[in-house]
Amino acid sequence: MRIDVFTIFPGLIAGFASESLLGKAQTDGLVTLTTHDLRDSATGRHRAVDDAPFGGGAGMVMMPEPLFASIEGANPPRPLFMLGPAGETFNQAKAEELAAGDGFSLLCGRYEGVDERVLTTLTDGQISIGDYVLGGGEVAALVVIEAVTRLIPGVMGNDLSARDESFSDGLLEYPHYTRPASFRDMDVPAVLRSGDHSKVDRWRRAQALARTLERRPELIQKRGGISAGDQKLLDEFDL
Ligand code: SAH
Repeated sequence: MRIDVFTIFPGLIAGFASESLLGKAQTDGLVTLTTHDLRDSATGRHRAVDDAPFGGGAGMVMMPEPLFASIEGANPPRPLFMLGPAGETFNQAKAEELAAGDGFSLLCGRYEGVDERVLTTLTDGQISIGDYVLGGGEVAALVVIEAVTRLIPGVMGNDLSARDESFSDGLLEYPHYTRPASFRDMDVPAVLRSGDHSKVDRWRRAQALARTLERRPELIQKRGGISAGDQKLLDEFDL
């Protein structure tokens, strides 16, 4: 998978991406991450990429010329998304969609954002990572890159672990426990130590349902409510 990132802070992206799963995915040749410094395409004496907004007001706006020059010169993988709070909210389904393709590109804004003509003609869409405002698109880009690349086969140590995670089935994940079986008088649920794998599966599913009902009821609604089978599972474990 090829991922290109356009930013005025390439070091923020490259530094984060050099460690952990993403670092290894690059070493293993599973992901090719390229950063493009937008300032390299700025022409002025001070390599400025921003200018004052037409119509007045606070803040600066990223100029079209260096952005067009940088992106057109790189011919990056498409789709190319701008990161921005006005975009479509990123979620696991979008991560899976991007993970199924060969690559994509991200444009990180700074200041008040970019000239609107960049959005209407140069990019293919806009992605937000949530309803809050960051200082720049770099952290948002890294959120997208990390969520997508860990879904690529071979990137995670155990590919199965991506299968029954939170959201993969429209539910939050069940609780996890490891050794010791008893810690400060807190015992691991007996069912997990019973060796009864079918019961463990049913318990995990029941826990996932109960948790989602309690914390994110709208996710249950989205799946069409609690089915008769779901209710049976909840009843079996008194949840
Ligand atoms: N004036 C803009 C915010 C600019 S924040 C507005 O009111 O919408 C500067 C940059 O940070 C943006 O161009 C964008 O690239 C990035 N950014 C801020 N919040 C973000 C979010 N929630 N998701 C993705 N990118 C974000």
